[in-house]
Amino acid sequence: VKVIASPAALQRQAAQWLRSGRRIGLVPTMGALHAGHLELVHRAKNECDRVIVTIYVNPTQFGPKEDLARYPRQRRKDLALCRQAGADIVFAPANLYLPDHSTWVEETDRSTGREGASRPGHFRGVATIVLKLLLLARPTHAYFGRKDGQQLEVIQRLVRDLNVPVKIVPVPTVRDRDGLALSSRNRYLSPEERLLAGTFAQLVHFAASKGRSAATVLRHDLKKLRGVQLDYAEISGGRLYAAVRIGTTRLIDNERVR
Ligand code: AMP
Repeated sequence: VKVIASPAALQRQAAQWLRSGRRIGLVPTMGALHAGHLELVHRAKNECDRVIVTIYVNPTQFGPKEDLARYPRQRRKDLALCRQAGADIVFAPANLYLPDHSTWVEETDRSTGREGASRPGHFRGVATIVLKLLLLARPTHAYFGRKDGQQLEVIQRLVRDLNVPVKIVPVPTVRDRDGLALSSRNRYLSPEERLLAGTFAQLVHFAASKGRSAATVLRHDLKKLRGVQLDYAEISGGRLYAAVRIGTTRLIDNERVR
């Protein structure tokens, strides 16, 4: 695996691959890689000739009171995992914003409500960095997890509206044995909190089987679960979306309503 830190170097390599007609798969991540991220890499390996994994903790998608400073960073381990998974390039820049950066990408429909309501400015940061990464890596395919379901919707809309020539590939959520969706943030949880997080995932799964009452059922069940504070439970586009806080850790999940 080749590690690239310079945006210009990535752009040169990507342009060369594109000229030779290669299918290029992009897997954008913030690092602290786990089996969920690696599933995206495996999908990209299967469908593309070259795979680029990006590791960049994007500061512009964090709110002023969020966990940017404590977000887990494990460069060496991440590189080893990317190598094992067969990535061709790991793009790990130190910084992707000039001091006087002043251009933002704002999606104004799918970004409202749910995460958009709880995390003002979050999707503006996400849309901006994703478009920057797409222009740097020029992938034919880009891989995103269903776990961040609203983010996926925002990116699909961004690519459609701005005519970005890339195929966005959604990848199903990878879960732990008790059902908790794998997340870099799960490591913030104490053993007791980790148990509650598993129960949260199980309640989402159960509520999603309740059809149109899914959100009501989930709200009701979570009220009885001490130590878990509900942020929202909502159905959108046939999926049940939920966010909770357990201690200082914020967790999100979503499942298709059935
Ligand atoms: P992050 O590093 O949290 O920004 O996530 C990078 C990408 O991995 C995003 O497209 C996420 O949706 C995806 N991802 C994170 N966790 C999972 C998971 N448990 N299953 C599938 N995809 C995931």
